[in-house]
Amino acid sequence: MTIVGAGLFLLAFHGAENLRIRLCRPAGFVRLSVNTMTTVSTAATASRKPKDFVIATMGSHSALQILKGARDEGMRNLVICKRGCEQPYRSFPVADDMILVDDWKEWDGGLEDELIRRNAIVIPHGSFVSYLGPERVKNMRAMYYGTKEILEWESNRDMEREWLLKSGLLLPRVFDKPEDIDRPVIIKFHGAGGGFGYFVVKSAEQFYEVKNRKYPDENDFVIQEYIVGAPLYIHYFHSPITGELEIMSMDKRYESNADSIGRIRAEDQLAANIHTSYTIVGNIPIVIRESLLPQLFTMGEKVVEVSKTLCGNGLVGPFCLEAIITRKLEIYVFEISARIVAGTNPFINGSPYTDLKYDVPMSTGRRLARDIKDAIVAGRLSEILG
Ligand code: ATP
Repeated sequence: MTIVGAGLFLLAFHGAENLRIRLCRPAGFVRLSVNTMTTVSTAATASRKPKDFVIATMGSHSALQILKGARDEGMRNLVICKRGCEQPYRSFPVADDMILVDDWKEWDGGLEDELIRRNAIVIPHGSFVSYLGPERVKNMRAMYYGTKEILEWESNRDMEREWLLKSGLLLPRVFDKPEDIDRPVIIKFHGAGGGFGYFVVKSAEQFYEVKNRKYPDENDFVIQEYIVGAPLYIHYFHSPITGELEIMSMDKRYESNADSIGRIRAEDQLAANIHTSYTIVGNIPIVIRESLLPQLFTMGEKVVEVSKTLCGNGLVGPFCLEAIITRKLEIYVFEISARIVAGTNPFINGSPYTDLKYDVPMSTGRRLARDIKDAIVAGRLSEILG
C-alpha cells in the first residue's frame, strides 16, 4: 500500500502487526508506528475543530464531488484509490492526500488503523459498498458517515419493499414466478451493477427463452412489473443536525442501449432482434414540474420517518428514491439508495434547487461536509456516525 500526500510525501506499509510508515518529505523523512488494533477514541470524536478531522472516500463513483465538497467547506480530505485508477484524482486537483492500494482486499486492519490515526470520517458511496461488501463495511472500525444497518434494508429486496410500503409509496407489482407474468415485466438480477443484464419480457415463454439462452446460471432475480413512464431519480438529504429534509437535485440515467435504440427505426430494431439493456454510462440532470414538488417532499419525509423505526438513527445524509412517473402522474418507486448516488455528479456546482436555498454552490458532496462540520462544532458527531 502506498500513501501519497499532495505530491510531497510517500508512505509505505511494512508488515501487518506493527506498521511502519515512512513520510518522505523534501527535508528528510519521519517514521511513525501504528498498532493494528487501534479503535476510534471518544477523545477523537470529542474535538470541536473541523480541522482535526479528514473526510475520506474511495476513488470512484462520486469521490470527486465529495473531495471538492470537503475542500469547499474548509476541511481536509483523503482519497483511497486502486492503483491504475488514480488519474482523475490527480488531474482534477481536489485531493489533499491519496492512498494507493493494489486491490480492495488491502482495505484491511492496517489501512483502517491509518484512517483512525488521521481521524478520518469515511463517506460511503455506491462503489464503496459494492467493492468492500456489506460484511467488511459492517465491521469497519474507522468513523463512518451514516447508519450502517440501513444498508441491509437497502440491499435486501424484501426488506427494502417492506420499508417503502410502510412509507406509503406506490410500488411496481412483483411476480412470484415466471408463470404469473401477465403484462410487461423487467427481470432484475441481484447484484447486477448499474442495470447490467436486466431484460424486459411479457410472458413466461419469453422469459424462459431469454433467461435460458443468456443467463442459464443466474437464478437470483426479481420479476417486477414494467412501468411505462418517465424515470426520475430524486436526490434527498436528511440532516439529523438541522432536522430538515432537503431536495438536492434530480437526474435520469443515460443507459446503453436503452437510450440509443430509438435512433433506429422500428423495422430495423425488429430485424436486428435487439434486446433492450440498461447498462448505466452517465447521468442527465432533470428539473421536475413544480406542482409535483410537494408530493416529492412528502415521499422523502415518510421514508425518513419510517427509517427511524427500522434501525439506529435511521437515514442520515444523502439518499435517493428511484421512480417512474406515468402519464397519469402516478409516481412508482422501484428502489431506494441509502447513500450518495452518482446521479448527483452533474451538480458539483450546485443544482437549480440548491441555488434557491444556499448562497454558495452546494453539491451533495459539499452538503455532506457541511453536515459533518456542523456536527463537529455542535459536539454532535455521534448522531451522524454509524
Ligand atoms: P442502481 O443500483 O445503481 O440504482 P440498478 O442496477 O439497480 O442501479 P436500476 O436503476 O434499478 O438499476 O434500473 C435500471 C433501469 O431499469 C433504469 O432505466 C430504470 O428506470 C429501469 N427500471 C427499473 N425498474 C423498472 C420498472 N419497474 N419499470 C420500468 N423501468 C424500470
